[in-house]
Amino acid sequence: MSKNTEIEGIIWRSTGSWYEVRSNEGQLYRCRLKGKFKIKGLKVTNPLAVGDKVIFHLEDTAENTGVISEILPRENYIIRKSVHKTAHGHLLACNIDQAILIVTLVMPRTSLGFIDRFLVSSESFRIPTVLLFNKCDLLDSESEAYQKEIMEMYEGLGYPCHSISALEKINLKAVDQLIEGKTSLISGHSGVGKSQLISEIIPELELATSEVSTFANKGVHTTTFAEMFEAKPGTYVIDSPGIKELGLMDMENEEISHYFPEMRELLGECKFHNCLHVNEPKCAVKDAVIAGEISESRFNSYLSMLENIDNRR
Ligand code: GDP
Ligand code: ZN
Repeated sequence: MSKNTEIEGIIWRSTGSWYEVRSNEGQLYRCRLKGKFKIKGLKVTNPLAVGDKVIFHLEDTAENTGVISEILPRENYIIRKSVHKTAHGHLLACNIDQAILIVTLVMPRTSLGFIDRFLVSSESFRIPTVLLFNKCDLLDSESEAYQKEIMEMYEGLGYPCHSISALEKINLKAVDQLIEGKTSLISGHSGVGKSQLISEIIPELELATSEVSTFANKGVHTTTFAEMFEAKPGTYVIDSPGIKELGLMDMENEEISHYFPEMRELLGECKFHNCLHVNEPKCAVKDAVIAGEISESRFNSYLSMLENIDNRR
């Protein structure tokens, strides 16, 4: 290929200064950005992230290295708060079809508050989310009944749920079907079985990682950056080590209820258009909680998110 040929590819992994880009033909290139990129309207510390589609051309100095000249339009993106610069976010991943949150109700117990915060973030980024309840092999009849109740609640809100065991390989077909032909971001508290599940759905991962590590060794590998894996052609999984929560970026109090689907549909019915559903009279959301149409755990999560935002100010 001549050095002037433009190649289209996807950011596979980022080390901060270097990007591993996979061309549409499946070849990996080590690329850097030409000059300084500023993305309009986005306050982020990094201009590119895993999942970004880019145009690059080869450099003549070394084999398989390239220069990125263009970022193609993004379908969506996930930003989390930057640890260092509070006004800026960190671009975590782009062009994601769905987020998969792995949770366990036992060993360890994922709190409903954590699940709800995750769902509110993914709603705010407009990314569909699926819940995988892992370690179903550990459930006794009581916890199984509890899990069923929780799953029905989230299914009712439009979040598909599956009960699986990564270790005992129970219901993993459902996971295969879920990820087929899509790019999925996988998240979860540590200990829920994320690594176990990823190694089940991508058996060739050992191979893939060693292939990639020759690239990584040349750069500085930072584990806080997400990376992409291919489960099979057209099916991609993004793993984001160390990132449990998506983080709530710049959310106003009034905005939060918009990201609770069961509240969103009632918002026009509250007496006050800027109702926060706390102490206001004639509040359709509170009425729905009293009537049992909105679950108490969801409403409590909502209230605690309001409080957190207040505490930040
Ligand atoms: P991660 O921190 O989310 O990556 O979790 P790991 O994949 O490292 O799993 C944490 C622990 O849970 C390990 O000891 C796994 O063997 C165990 N584990 C993972 N999946 C299951 C499961 O479905 N059932 C049971 N019983 N244990 C599991
Ligand atoms: Zn209200």
